[in-house]
Amino acid sequence: MKTKYIFVTGGVVSSLGKGIIAASLGKLLTARGFSVTIQKLDPYLNIDPGTMSPFQHGEVFVTADGAETDLDLGHYERFINRNLTKASSVSAGKIYQNVLERERKGEFLGATVQIIPHITNEIKRHIFAAGGDGSNFVIVEIGGTIGDIEGLPFIEAIRQIRLEAGQQNALFLHATLIPFIPTTGELKTKPTQHSVQELRSLGIQPDILVCRSQGHISKPEREKIGLFTNVPAEAVISCIDQPSIYQVPLALEEEGLVTQVLQRVGVSQAIEPDLTQWRIVAHKSQQSLPTVHIGIAGKYTKLSDAYLSVVEALKHAGIYTDCSIQIQWISAEECTTPEAATTALQGLDGLLVPGGFGIRGIEGKINLITAARTQCIPFFGICLGMQCAVIEYARNVCNIMRANSAEFMAPDDVAVIDLMAEQKEKIGLGGTMRLGSFPCKINSTSKAYTGYQKELVQERHRHRYEVSDIIRPILEKNGMRISGTSPDTTLVEIIEVPDHPWFIGVQFHPELQSRPESPHPLFMNFVTATIEEKNKKCCPDTNTKTKTYKPYINA
Ligand code: GLN
Repeated sequence: MKTKYIFVTGGVVSSLGKGIIAASLGKLLTARGFSVTIQKLDPYLNIDPGTMSPFQHGEVFVTADGAETDLDLGHYERFINRNLTKASSVSAGKIYQNVLERERKGEFLGATVQIIPHITNEIKRHIFAAGGDGSNFVIVEIGGTIGDIEGLPFIEAIRQIRLEAGQQNALFLHATLIPFIPTTGELKTKPTQHSVQELRSLGIQPDILVCRSQGHISKPEREKIGLFTNVPAEAVISCIDQPSIYQVPLALEEEGLVTQVLQRVGVSQAIEPDLTQWRIVAHKSQQSLPTVHIGIAGKYTKLSDAYLSVVEALKHAGIYTDCSIQIQWISAEECTTPEAATTALQGLDGLLVPGGFGIRGIEGKINLITAARTQCIPFFGICLGMQCAVIEYARNVCNIMRANSAEFMAPDDVAVIDLMAEQKEKIGLGGTMRLGSFPCKINSTSKAYTGYQKELVQERHRHRYEVSDIIRPILEKNGMRISGTSPDTTLVEIIEVPDHPWFIGVQFHPELQSRPESPHPLFMNFVTATIEEKNKKCCPDTNTKTKTYKPYINA
C-alpha cells in the first residue's frame, strides 16, 4: 500500500497530550500489523532540544542513532515499540539551517529565498524522508498550537502535501480540548469551533477531531461540534482523561478512532488489533499492588517531565514485578549533611540518582549515595548518578578525599571522572556529546549480567565525561567491580559494589530503552531488589539493615 501520512495538529491549549494521541494512534495501527513511524515537527528555532533546559522543555530523549530529541519521541518509541531515528525529530531551526546553508553554497543562485517555497519545500522533504523507509503510516505531529505564528510554515507545508499526495494518502487529525465548566455543569465546544475555524483559514479542513475532555461527550454534543466544524459527527472522537497514559490507546480504540482513520485513507480494516499485552500493561498500571517507595534525587524535582523516561522505566518494572512504585522526589541540594541525607532516605526502599549536568546538588547526591551504600539501600546511578557513585567511593572507600569530576571540580581536586579523550577537540555544546547507541561488554559474574543474561548489549549514551583510567585500578583494588566496559575495555560502562544488596551505576541511559511491553532488565532488577529489601525490613529475622558494611580501605 502507498504510505499514508496522518498529520496531528493541536488547538485550544498547549500540553493537550497530542504526543500521547499520536503515539496511541501509532499503537493501534501497529497492533493491526501495519508498519508505523512517527515524526515530530517542532516550530522552535533551536536546532534540537539538546541545549534547552529540562526545566522548561522536559527531558532530552536520545535516539539509537544519536539524535537529541523532544520527549515525545520517547512516548512514540514506547507505544509503537520501535526504535526511531534522527528523521523523526525536526525543528524549524534545523529546517532554516539547511536552507540557509544551501543558500550560502549558491544552490538557489538567482532566486529570492523565501518561506514559501524554500522553507516549506524543506519541511516537505523531511516529512517524505520519514516515510522513505516504506512504512505504511507516517504519523506527523506538529508541535505548538494552531494560531502560533512560528507554526505557520509547517501548516502550509502539510496543506501542500495533501494536494500532492492526494486525499486518500494524507489525513488531518486535529486534537482539541472541550473544557468543562463546573458551575453550570457544561462541556463547552466554542474553543474547538474557533480552533477549527483558524485551521480552515489556513486551508486545512480537519478530517477527524480528537476532543479531550474530562467526561463523556454525548452524541448531540458531537453532532454540534461536527456541524460547526464541518466534520462528520462519527469522526468527532472523544478522548476522556485517563488515569494512566497506557489506557489512552484502549479508550481511543473503544471510540472507534482507527475505523475512522482507515475509512478515510481507503484501507479496508480486515485485521483485528492484537492488544493482549497492552491490555495487561494498562490494567496492571491501575491495579492496587504492594507499594515500594523509591527516591529520585535530582535538581529538577519540581518538573517530573525532566526525568520522564526514568519514571516510565520504573513504572514498567513495577508492572512486571507486581508492585506499585511510589516516587519520592528528593531535592539533592537540600541534603547538605550526611544526617540530612539519611533523613531524606527514611522510609525509602531504593535510591535512584539520574543523569544531569553541572555542580548544583552534587554534594547532596554524594551524601545520599554514601547513606544508600552504607545502609544497604538499593541504589541505581545513571550517567551523572554513576559518576557521583564513583566520586563517593573514591572519597569514602579509597580515601581520595578530594575526588571529584572534571566537569565541576575546584583546582586542587582530583579528577576521578574526566573528560573523554574524544571530547577534548570538540567545540560548542550542540550535538557534541558522545551520543546514541554503543556496545557494552558485561562481566558474566556480575549482578548486571543476572539482569541482562547477555555478554554484549547496546545502550544509549549522552555524556562528555568518563571514569578516569588512573582511578580505575584503585577502585577495583578497593572492591568496586567494573562489570561493564566498551568492547575494547577502554571505557567504564557499569560499576557495582558486590557485597551490597544492589548497588549499580551505569554510564548510559537504560531508561531510554525501557518499553511497557519490554521493560529494561536493570530497572527490573533494581525494583526487585527494593522489594526484597522492603520485605527484609518487614521481617526482622532476615534483616540485613544492621549488617556492618565494608570497612574503609586506604588506596
Ligand atoms: N554531565 C555528565 C557528562 O557529561 C553526565 C551526563 C548525563 O548524566 N547525561 O558526562
